[in-house]
Amino acid sequence: MLSQKIQQLQPSPTLALDARIKAMQRAGVPIVNLSLGEPDMATPDPIAAAGVLAIQSGFTHYTAAAGIPELRAAIAAHLNSKHTTTYLPEQIVVGVGSKALLYLTFQALCNPGDEVLVSTPTWSTYLEQIKQAGGVPVTIPLASPFIFTAEALQKNISPKTKIILINSPANPTGAIIPADELAKIAALAKEYNLLIVTDEIYEELYYTESKPRSIVSVDPTVLDRTVLINGFSKAYAMTGWRIGYLAAPLAIAKAVADLQGQITSNTSSIAQKAALTALSSGNTAVHQLKNTFTERRTFVHNALSKIPGLTYAAPAGAFYFFVSVQKFLNAKMPTATDWCAKLLEKEKVAVVPGEAFAAPGYFRLSFAASMSELQKGMEGIQRFIDSL
Ligand code: PLP
Repeated sequence: MLSQKIQQLQPSPTLALDARIKAMQRAGVPIVNLSLGEPDMATPDPIAAAGVLAIQSGFTHYTAAAGIPELRAAIAAHLNSKHTTTYLPEQIVVGVGSKALLYLTFQALCNPGDEVLVSTPTWSTYLEQIKQAGGVPVTIPLASPFIFTAEALQKNISPKTKIILINSPANPTGAIIPADELAKIAALAKEYNLLIVTDEIYEELYYTESKPRSIVSVDPTVLDRTVLINGFSKAYAMTGWRIGYLAAPLAIAKAVADLQGQITSNTSSIAQKAALTALSSGNTAVHQLKNTFTERRTFVHNALSKIPGLTYAAPAGAFYFFVSVQKFLNAKMPTATDWCAKLLEKEKVAVVPGEAFAAPGYFRLSFAASMSELQKGMEGIQRFIDSL
């Protein structure tokens, strides 16, 4: 009954795990949930209030498919001041989260068999979306600390390559691609005439001196071949509002907006008003969120470093530790999925197995959880390892 395309689809492993955790919680099992891919904080008050005001003032109708003009203009200005780019409001499309915009982008760009270069570990959504668009994800496995290099990329370029996908800071590793490496990737894109899709959703969350750079600011000459994707979910704790944006060459922006117009029409008018306030309210909310994550990262880093046998690179950005459990795998517990299932069963601590990120032998621990939950989680992991 189902199409071949849909039969290929792997459901999101993180959402599936989340559903299992919620079911256990409903059954009264207290879970320490370190699997979350979203900030646990509430949306900052002024942003939420703008949403309420939009409802109360009757701003509750369809908008233009690509978004309200004032938000598209504000996003263009925001990007231009950050990256010294020259985006016009017409090059911006506001959509139902960056996830949906990524989907629309691959639909708009991929012909059957077109190859998209994706480094692993990776967010599995990319692989599924590329396949649904008829493209072929070509995975490039990286070793810790998981920095995508032009050298690794070049080895995988073929006559069928169409797109280079970049995600920096990355989910699940937190790795940030340094500017000099981005410059080399940009040079390859130009040499081989490739498009670039850059997912910068974790851009505001970084913990070392080296601020994440966008490839379009490192080399502005790739603007005409790059789709930049970002959103409000992670930096402003707005995951449930479902709003993200894309900045692209005019033809691509128009194609994505037209396709969106045939699917969801626009994203919520209410979320658009809230996003406008998020952008105009300055960086206070973002700084607060980042400070909280910085403190938690330090705590988890200290705790993990004291547990023998676990190895990891401290994340430069995002809010995840990607930890190797290879030392603990054996005939009785052969995979990270088994390891994580046992941890959940014995200690009621939830983390996501690396298989969900095309990287067996690891787990992803999210520090988007309160300090007391993180403390319980680290104690649970320590006890679990002591019991092995
Ligand atoms: N990109 C990456 C790398 C993510 O990890 C996520 C969410 O987990 C998204 C995009 C989706 O964000 P949004 O809420 O804007 O759809």
